[in-house]
Amino acid sequence: MENNLVTTAYIVASALFILSLAGLSQPETAKKGNLLGILGMAIAFAATAAISQGYPIQIGSIGLGVLVGVLAASRVAMTDMPEMVALLNSFVGLAAVLVGFAEYLQPSAALSGGDVIVHRVEIFVGVFIGIVTFTGSMIAVAKLRGWVPSRAVLLPARHVLTLGMLGAIAALGFPFLTATGDGPMIALAAMTAIAGIFGIVIVMAIGGADMAVVISLLNSYSGLASAAAGFMLNNDLLIITGALVGSSGAILSYIMCKGMNRSFLNVLLGGWGEGVGGSVDAVQTEGEATPTTAAETAELLNNAESVVIVPGYGMAVAQAQHAISDITNILRKRGKTVRFGIHPVAGRMPGHMNVLLAEANVPYDIVLEMDEINDDFPSTDVVLVIGANDTVNPSAQDNPGSPIAGMPVMEVWKAQTCIVLKRSLSAGYAGVPNPLFYKDNTLMLFGDAKANVSAIQAQLSAAKEPAMVS
Ligand code: NDP
Repeated sequence: MENNLVTTAYIVASALFILSLAGLSQPETAKKGNLLGILGMAIAFAATAAISQGYPIQIGSIGLGVLVGVLAASRVAMTDMPEMVALLNSFVGLAAVLVGFAEYLQPSAALSGGDVIVHRVEIFVGVFIGIVTFTGSMIAVAKLRGWVPSRAVLLPARHVLTLGMLGAIAALGFPFLTATGDGPMIALAAMTAIAGIFGIVIVMAIGGADMAVVISLLNSYSGLASAAAGFMLNNDLLIITGALVGSSGAILSYIMCKGMNRSFLNVLLGGWGEGVGGSVDAVQTEGEATPTTAAETAELLNNAESVVIVPGYGMAVAQAQHAISDITNILRKRGKTVRFGIHPVAGRMPGHMNVLLAEANVPYDIVLEMDEINDDFPSTDVVLVIGANDTVNPSAQDNPGSPIAGMPVMEVWKAQTCIVLKRSLSAGYAGVPNPLFYKDNTLMLFGDAKANVSAIQAQLSAAKEPAMVS
């Protein structure tokens, strides 16, 4: 009876997770999707707690986890969210490693014959995926926080090293499955150490602009690690949940790879093959950047008919989305066509810009993806680039030596006037100089994006339409 109830609860929770993913696929239904996911998790949690033993340990560890989670989540700044997501991915990996070792030392079910081998395979694979997820995600956190360089760090003979590590990991599987005494434990520990280094090496080898794909890939790995833990613990819900996270993360990674014109395998193997030969020295910037003022920007906007706003990571840092939403409303009320163009890897996590714009109540129907808006730049009067850099770098298109060569970018320089809001002429996350800032039709509005957008808003509000008095 108890088992039937738990099975029913698990089925309901699984269905809610699937509905949650469906909801999260559209901005309009995302909130509902989130709520369904929370409900599913609450049901899964209650059902698992009901069949578990050792309540004091459970309550103690869950209580501590809830406390740390609530404190961390309530304090984290929106700009630090990508690091938080990467850190949480790493915890899932670490959990799978710990479950694997615990299951080896003390299996949760009595096994005999072929089942022992199957269980050992589950442990070996689970620990491998878990440790790669853990160390890879920790490097991702370090890259996102700037503790290690965001550019690709390539070891000499890295392909030989990568193949050697993979070979050693596979070879250690044999003693783990067949040896007696301490042999399996030594093999498991050695594999864990090598796979941990493997995770570090492959993520270090990913260049700044490809980090977006890696983050979603590590998210997918964390799902696989959960599924592996589910196999080890014989828990169907963990397998289903892990499979959902793993497959949706893999699909997202594939879509991002396509959006960035990168080969999935290349990114997967840590920059193997094409796309990693570029050098920042190959990108020369010529000429002088032309500075502008908030008053001149407001005048150009007021006289424009069509405006496209291209946000990037700097908008998130400056928290400029509400001020941007306000100027969007003013311009639209004055009959201008205002749209947003979102690059697939703008910001520091998938959908980063969409979340911020939704928070600021920018209507969904004027927020377009890169492919939907790129052809419209030649007929656009003014483009406002707000804290975007790598995603608007023309060297990706016209310089084969650029480290980001081949990555599709927002073709903002094709508009009549392009105004870039940022604090300096420095490079973006990928560390590549940006020739856009020096083009004849580009104006640079230096300073914090929020302060400048607010100044533009004040100028626009004070101005009469259509001509401005600056
Ligand atoms: P970038 O990271 O290339 O550039 C952001 C720019 O914002 C900086 O050059 C900075 O210039 C400016 N900036 C920072 N703070 C402010 C501020 N307060 N006011 C105004 N400007 C500011 O941004 P993009 O969004 O164009 O590109 C994202 C990059 O991050 C890509 O390379 C992508 O691959 C990578 N990435 C993306 C992930 C994702 O999932 N989306 C995950 C990991 C990496 P300045 O200092 O001069 O102000």
